[in-house]
Amino acid sequence: MDIFELRKPQITRRDFIKAASAALVLLGLSQALTPKVVKALEKSAGKPAVIWLEGQDCAGCVESFLNSLEPDAVSILLDTISLRYNETAMAASGHQAEDALAKTVEEGGYILVIEGAIPLAEDGLFCTIGGKPFKDIVHECASNAAAIICVGSCATYGGIPRSGPTDAVGYLYRGTQKHHYFDDVGEKPVINLPTCPLHCERLVAVIIHYLTFSTVPELDEFQRPLAFYGENQHENCERRGHFDAGRFLTDWGDPEQQGWCLYLKGCKGPWANQDCWKRLWNNRTNYCIQANHPCVACSEPEFYESVSPMYERQFDVEFPGIGRVDIDKIMLTIGGAVAAGIGLDMAVSKITGDWKDNGETNANKEGKES
Ligand code: SF4
Repeated sequence: MDIFELRKPQITRRDFIKAASAALVLLGLSQALTPKVVKALEKSAGKPAVIWLEGQDCAGCVESFLNSLEPDAVSILLDTISLRYNETAMAASGHQAEDALAKTVEEGGYILVIEGAIPLAEDGLFCTIGGKPFKDIVHECASNAAAIICVGSCATYGGIPRSGPTDAVGYLYRGTQKHHYFDDVGEKPVINLPTCPLHCERLVAVIIHYLTFSTVPELDEFQRPLAFYGENQHENCERRGHFDAGRFLTDWGDPEQQGWCLYLKGCKGPWANQDCWKRLWNNRTNYCIQANHPCVACSEPEFYESVSPMYERQFDVEFPGIGRVDIDKIMLTIGGAVAAGIGLDMAVSKITGDWKDNGETNANKEGKES
């Protein structure tokens, strides 16, 4: 039974068309494809089955999904798929729930959503459900799935649990490292939707894309849809003008500094590739930087260890086409650059140019020191 049966709203054809159109906008596809999406969704109404597993996590991703107030896309998704198993939301429990899971796995052809990291230490005993290690449950469910969608930073790269003692990994990655623990489930589409937590719209759009075209959207090297992870936060940040002008917030209480760049407060925006800056969160209210919080780059494989401590600035910053640059050198140059009326990028180019002239880039300098 579909666990959302009781809360399903009545979907009219008008709602269908509106939702199909919204999904295309999410994916950055042409509105001309709306009839095709509508047809695919109508045809697949009530199917396919979706299994949503939760491993070592805080349940924040499923909470994010359930709290979404985007009625069009979510309603259409709930009316289109049959969510057979999810520990946080399902009414069933115990043997009833486990039987529903086993039956769906036996039937095969479902979409598997994985939330939470997969602990491998102690043969997976740090996370067991119904007496079974989560790693074995994932493996069983993955083997008969038509497609696998990893939601949130934990399921994609190990996330915060990767920093603990459980040897937690994502489904395909352990940080930036591809691991092969689950390789024997064969060649099937695996889509990663990192961030902490999941952004519901990205999941809805990927499922609708799959139902419509029977393919996954174009992915980057970490299996992330380019439509959502193809652009850089720092390049598109509304505070970028302050960064370029060297106006960095240092005192949260200073009214004059409100809206200034959060780099010195630990912002990892230069490392973060996502579209939070235009998609927004909390039902399009705002996102981290708009809420005066540094970006923590939760879309990236290095999250959480490499972006920690969260509220401290990083040592250097990557400039496209230039490379990694020592932030202290930038800070020293800012005053002169601003006074001379030249942009920070030009100042940075000068710094790196000086290094290259000396035959010493930041990278090989670090190499010499180590
Ligand atoms: Fe925006 Fe952060 Fe870049 Fe500053 S460092 S411009 S706050 S992304």
